[in-house]
Amino acid sequence: MQVSRRQFFKICAGGMAGTTVAALGFMPTEVLAETRNYKLLRAKEVRNTCTYCSVGCGLLMYSLGDGAKNASAHIFHIEGDPDHPVSRGALCPKGAGLLDYVNSPNRLKYPQYRAPGSTEWQRLSWDDALNRIARLMKDDRDANFIKTNEQGVTVNRWLTTGMLCASAASNETGLLDQKFARALGMLSVDNQARI
Ligand code: SF4
Repeated sequence: MQVSRRQFFKICAGGMAGTTVAALGFMPTEVLAETRNYKLLRAKEVRNTCTYCSVGCGLLMYSLGDGAKNASAHIFHIEGDPDHPVSRGALCPKGAGLLDYVNSPNRLKYPQYRAPGSTEWQRLSWDDALNRIARLMKDDRDANFIKTNEQGVTVNRWLTTGMLCASAASNETGLLDQKFARALGMLSVDNQARI
């Protein structure tokens, strides 16, 4: 049922009866016009840390895709996290442009290996990459581990391999990295972000 704007307000002035009529959909076209849906309404929100620098600003990342097998999540909006203790919602221009970085066709999404002397990179599975890293670490540690110093004092040092961690890591991840590296005897450990 179409009513004019004037008739609609007359009906509403009738109190509950008018409200019921309106709720049942008897509203003029003008009233049916609504504002655009909030673009993040059905998005999935996750927290992360900016990958760029050692400030380690907090991010809110929004994606669409319900996780079903035939639906891949797509990040379509990134903004500063107002609850983050470091940045309180602020992002510099680099962080504010992260969406382009995330969706860049040049972004590396899987491990690659370049053999010594080769100019070609070849793609590896994560299992192969992790197995290779573990094998190389074990061989190097076995060959170079220093149990005692010149005075015979136990030092348990492994100086020929180091660990460099990325900035998109929390305090908790950093703590685990430290425990892992120190337990192996590694002294050279650094992280891009001191967060
Ligand atoms: S938003 Fe800017 S200042 Fe913050 S971590 Fe990213 S690059 Fe650094």
